[in-house]
Amino acid sequence: MAELLLLGTGAALTDGSREPTMLALRGASSTIVIDCGGNAVRQLQRLSVPLDSIERVILTHEHQDHTSGFPLLVEMLWLAGRREPLPIHGPARAIDIMRRVWGQWDTSDWEGLPELQWHAVPLEEGARIVTGADFELTAAPGRHGQTPVIGVRARDVHGGGVVVYGSDGSPSLEIQALARGADILVHEATGLYPVHSSAEQAAEVARAAGVKRLILVHLSPLENDLAEQQAAAARIFGGPVFLGEDLERFEF
Ligand SMILES: [Zn+2]
Repeated sequence: MAELLLLGTGAALTDGSREPTMLALRGASSTIVIDCGGNAVRQLQRLSVPLDSIERVILTHEHQDHTSGFPLLVEMLWLAGRREPLPIHGPARAIDIMRRVWGQWDTSDWEGLPELQWHAVPLEEGARIVTGADFELTAAPGRHGQTPVIGVRARDVHGGGVVVYGSDGSPSLEIQALARGADILVHEATGLYPVHSSAEQAAEVARAAGVKRLILVHLSPLENDLAEQQAAAARIFGGPVFLGEDLERFEF
């Protein structure tokens, strides 16, 4: 049985109860970190996830609330003793930005610093990220204004369970197709903004994709009455809708 871990569930501006939205997938022998806008290591430690199980990192897009914790993640993994290379996957622009950000520091005397292996994921439906020890990872482009973004589909190669994370964006037919039949769809519900989705819109994607469970994330303190949004989403979706909370875990 694989697990989805909610490391963070907040929007770009969070309140004291949430980190920016970031996820982890825990398989039999590996962990995938998806987005890194806060202190991912602290959240993984609170969930008792061994840091040496981290196989790779996926950055769904370049926005600061999804990437700015990455340099800290690398430093902490190095201090924790990681020496094997760390693969990082994402849209070419996010990869390029983060590679340049990381390059601003002189780490030449950091002995044993893991090699960072950068991999651009094409912005096309059916894009293959990689198949690792526990998960087959594929992607599709989302709609987030002018910002290149990918949604991620993870299939547990042992049990067959599927989680799809739509990342940030307004409702997208490509993300809907990516989510088809998934056990869990993690969809943003920032609110009714041009480049984001409301809870109701997330529910419409979940219903059209025929997923089993919907988890709402990227929740904003500017939106009051999240419970009402959850109820509205449940009426549209017809299945279980969860308001994501930091450090929650879901089996799939
Ligand atoms: Zn964004």
